[in-house]
Amino acid sequence: MGLLSVIVPCYNEEENVELFYTELIKNDPFFAEENVELELLFVDDGSRDGTVAEVKKLIQRDERVHLLSFSRNFGKEAAMYAGLENAGGDYVVLMDVDLQDPPSLLPEMFSYIKQGYDSVATRRVSRKGEPPVRSFFARMFYRLMKKISRTEIMDGARDYRLMTRQMVDAILAMHEYNRFTKGIFGWVGFRTKWLEYENVERAKGETKWNFWKLLVYSVDGITAFSTVPLMLASVMGVLFCFLAFAMIIFVIVRKLIFGDPVSGWASQVCIMLLIGGVQFFCTGILGQYLAKTYMEVKRRPIYLVKEKI
Ligand code: UDP
Ligand code: MG
Repeated sequence: MGLLSVIVPCYNEEENVELFYTELIKNDPFFAEENVELELLFVDDGSRDGTVAEVKKLIQRDERVHLLSFSRNFGKEAAMYAGLENAGGDYVVLMDVDLQDPPSLLPEMFSYIKQGYDSVATRRVSRKGEPPVRSFFARMFYRLMKKISRTEIMDGARDYRLMTRQMVDAILAMHEYNRFTKGIFGWVGFRTKWLEYENVERAKGETKWNFWKLLVYSVDGITAFSTVPLMLASVMGVLFCFLAFAMIIFVIVRKLIFGDPVSGWASQVCIMLLIGGVQFFCTGILGQYLAKTYMEVKRRPIYLVKEKI
């Protein structure tokens, strides 16, 4: 029926490569029956441990395994993009190497593609094993995004997704530098089937994300898929104009009736500080979008390849 490309971004995952491969090839009988050939593309995102060596070991054993190695760490978004660009499959699936995206789901996912869906996506319905503070902010992020963006971004969605060639080409047509794949998937549309599963803890090693990185990533997501924050500045500007107008009338009337213009030093300082704060806040929002635009117009490559096998 065709070729299935499995794209696996890896960053310092030497302990997981072999484990992942063993889990994945458990699906071989299923795909043989379906007449689907497999191609495995490990994208090494500039790992500094033995990840590349582990993948090369697999390449010697199995000719379906390929490697794309970056010149440095470019981030998972870049790794996924590189994988999609280099995949030759009629179907493409993106999955993590730490087994948090269970390969055992693949047969079910594939069955939906056969039913005519363009993509089968996964989301975790629980976040057990994750720090509560992180879960809380993650939920807040998705709720905010729902309000300020027209692109559908599903709460708990993973990057684990099986797609047809048509959808992959649509994603590749989006050349943006600031890539927020969770949004890009929603933006391109197509008919998507969602599968839900309980969170699985990673097999070996530790997550590459900390709170700060996630916060920065969420700002990337907001600036990439919403311009509502920019509008916020205008709205606040109008609001403050009305407020100022009311205050002017109040001050004039008070002067005419009581003739006492020199009081209220405290309130004046408060107002000045408030307006100062709001101004910095709005300039900050502008700065965020300007920074993204700046990076975008530079047109730097999204990733650089050091080795390709
Ligand atoms: N990853 C990557 N580049 C990075 C960070 C992570 O290619 O800069 C890969 C990592 O090897 C893994 C996947 O992206 O296969 C998900 O990373 P991680 O498990 O750290 O994220 P989490 O599952 O905690 O969201
Ligand atoms: Mg993980």
